Amino acid sequence: MANVNARALELGTQRSVIRELFEFGKKRIAEVGAENVFDFSIGNPSVPAPDVVNETAIRLLKEMDPVMIHGYTSAQGDPNVRQMIADSIQRRFGYAARPESLYMSTGAAGALCGCLGGLLNPGDEVIVFAPFFPEYRVFIEAAGGTMKLIPADTEAFQIDFERFEEALSPKTKAVLINSPNNPSGAVYSEETILRLSKILKEKSAAYGQVIYLITDEPYREIAFSGVKVPFVPKYYPNTLVCYSWSKALSLPGERMGYVLVAEEMEEHDTVYAAVAGASRALGYVSAPSLFQRVCAMCADDTSDISVYEKNRDILVKGLREIGFSVVEPQGTFYMFPRTLIEDDIAFCEKAKEFNLLIVPGTGFGCPGHTRISYCVPTERAERSLEAFAKLAACYA
Ligand code: PLP
Repeated sequence: MANVNARALELGTQRSVIRELFEFGKKRIAEVGAENVFDFSIGNPSVPAPDVVNETAIRLLKEMDPVMIHGYTSAQGDPNVRQMIADSIQRRFGYAARPESLYMSTGAAGALCGCLGGLLNPGDEVIVFAPFFPEYRVFIEAAGGTMKLIPADTEAFQIDFERFEEALSPKTKAVLINSPNNPSGAVYSEETILRLSKILKEKSAAYGQVIYLITDEPYREIAFSGVKVPFVPKYYPNTLVCYSWSKALSLPGERMGYVLVAEEMEEHDTVYAAVAGASRALGYVSAPSLFQRVCAMCADDTSDISVYEKNRDILVKGLREIGFSVVEPQGTFYMFPRTLIEDDIAFCEKAKEFNLLIVPGTGFGCPGHTRISYCVPTERAERSLEAFAKLAACYA
């Protein structure tokens, strides 16, 4: 047996359910053709980045000093880039962010690891609401903390405040939220953020220590008609925003995101320095130079995300007609219907017989459900309903 870290080895060798599905999908595509495989497993945007992204990248490559464009930036990111992003935040949310509060990271994942590493001491708890993005547990534990999971409110996938208040204790270092949410598509309203913020302020005062609010926002712009996503730092001063251009700008492979430490944060500069230090310890310094600049210049743009709303409408209506119970998503490109039997793992296994690749809810902390990732061509979403109907017929 190699003399390696046991937990790291476990993480490196465990094949995720989604990866298994991906491999299965590849096999089925070879057998029956891509058009007959309904792959709803992965959250890879299905629409390309807008033309302005490639145009900006090409222009920068042609016009910028060739040494500089591929050179290291400051550890926390290029100062002009951070100024441009601060300006975009001001324009879009009316929030006066400063470049000194931004740390450029490799996607939301890098941002989360920087925040958690910067905040947590051994034994600290981070409260997470089910259903949740499974990597949270990995990131929290890697930072020495413990994840405390609040069971899902399966009626609406909003916060169950009663259970939340019961879970808070002096051990709570941070609360981690994700709205718009993977996997449910739920969006927290202004009322929800206000209530959350009020409780956190009261409990921080009662315990005599700050409870931080980490808001993971890779889907910020993917909210459907009429749905508003509150800008959390306006409501709670001790907020850290983890943002990414992976989803709304369709750039997951470029690994670009940032941490914003809210301006009114208590001991702001100390918290920022801790985030920077944790990022340094993880090797997340000087995020990719070209795409820092491209993302900053395209910070107000998105790809054509209207297709996700179209797919949502087709699938919610179609699945309900077939007999599925599904909470209508308000954003993202995920939905999280109930499975037609309690055993979601067996259900998703059965779905494979109809070339439907859907992910069991168990991994998201919410058994009896399945995640459908509908970032697929619309005609594929439409045609998948026949396969869903055949699957449902097995349980009629
Ligand atoms: N957080 C959530 C909720 C996600 O769904 C994802 C990716 O799917 C991430 C974080 C990681 O995002 P990134 O690819 O920007 O690191």
